[in-house]
Amino acid sequence: MRIAVTGGAGFIGSHTAAALAEAGHYPIVIDDFRNSKPFIIDRLKTLCKGKLSFHEADCNDRDKMAGIFEKEQPEGIIHFAAYKAVGESVRHPLMYYRNNVGSLLTLLELQKHYGIEHFVFSSSCTVYGVPDELPVTESSPVKKAQSPYGFTKQVGEQILFDLQSASTPMRSVILRYFNPIGAHSSALIGELPLGEPENLVPYITQTAAGIRKELTIFGQDYETPDGTAIRDYIHVMDLAEAHVRAIAWLAESEEKASAEVFNLGAGRGSSVKEVVATFEEVSGVKLNYRYGPRRPGDVPAIYANADKARKVLGWAVQRTLSDALRDAWHWQQQIHGLPV
Ligand code: UDP
Repeated sequence: MRIAVTGGAGFIGSHTAAALAEAGHYPIVIDDFRNSKPFIIDRLKTLCKGKLSFHEADCNDRDKMAGIFEKEQPEGIIHFAAYKAVGESVRHPLMYYRNNVGSLLTLLELQKHYGIEHFVFSSSCTVYGVPDELPVTESSPVKKAQSPYGFTKQVGEQILFDLQSASTPMRSVILRYFNPIGAHSSALIGELPLGEPENLVPYITQTAAGIRKELTIFGQDYETPDGTAIRDYIHVMDLAEAHVRAIAWLAESEEKASAEVFNLGAGRGSSVKEVVATFEEVSGVKLNYRYGPRRPGDVPAIYANADKARKVLGWAVQRTLSDALRDAWHWQQQIHGLPV
C-alpha cells in the first residue's frame, strides 16, 4: 500500500517508514525538518532502496498537503508529525495546540476529501496519568492531562472517537506508545535530539560519548524496588513493526474497525537504575551519573499490558532492553562527529 507518513523524518516516523518499505509498502514521507535533519531522508532512501518518496511540508499547510495527496494518492496515513516535549508545552501551550491539534484536523479533512480509508494516530501512555493499577490496559481510565502536550493527545483521541460515532467510512487505530528507544540495526537512522536531550536514553548515550558531562537521575525516593522511576521501554523497530501490523489489520478487518486503541509497550517495567546498569553492560562504558531531585510531572511507575495488540494485531516485541541500548549506542557512535 501507498502510505503517507507525516513526521517521517522523526524518530518513530523514520523507523516506521523503513519497516513499511521492508514489508513491501511504499512510504510517502512528509516532514518539514522542524525536529530532524535532511540527512535522515538520504539515509532512509538508502535503507528503502529508493522505494519511497519525500515531500518537505508542514502538515498544517492545507494547500501544500492537498497537492501532495493529489500527486501521491495514498491509501493510508500514519500521522506522527507533532511536538512532543512536555516542559516546552507548558511554556508554549498555543504552539502545541495549533500544531498538534491543527495538523490532525487538516489531515482528517483531507482524508475525507480524498477518500483515504486508513488512519493511524500516534498517542501516548501519558493519557493514563498516574495509573491506579499496573500494568495498564486499554480500558484503564484516562486521567486529567498534566500538560498541554498530554492534552493534545487526549483531544486527538477524542476527535477520532467522535468521527467513529459519526460513522464516517474511515477506519482508524490509536496507538498508545510507551517509551520508544534504540535505533535501526544498521545504525543509519536513530533518535536525533536537537540540543540537550530531554529523554533518558539519548542523554545516556551522549554522556557515554562525552558530549554531556553527566547524567542526572531524576529521583531516588520513589516507592519502587530501587527508588528510581519505572517505565516500559520498547525498541523503536518493534514499535515501527506494530504500525505495519496496524495498517494490515485495518485493510484486512471485515467490520468497520474504527478508533480502536492499542497499548504498545514491551509489557515490562524497568527502573532508571536498571537502564543505566544495562547500558554499562552492553557498551562496556562506565557512565558518569549523579542523583538529582524528581522531575516535575513524572509518574513513579507505568508499564503496559499489550495483550490486545498481541491478540488482535498478531504483534509481539522481538527485541530486549539490551538490544535496544546496544543499537542506541551504535547509532550514537556512528553519528558522533557528524555535523548534525
Ligand atoms: N530521566 C532521568 N534523567 C534524564 C532523563 C530522564 O532520570 O536526564 C528519567 C525520567 O525521570 C523518567 C525516565 O528517565 O523516569 C524516562 O524519562 P523520559 O524523558 O525518557 O521519558 P518519559 O517517561 O518522561 O516520557
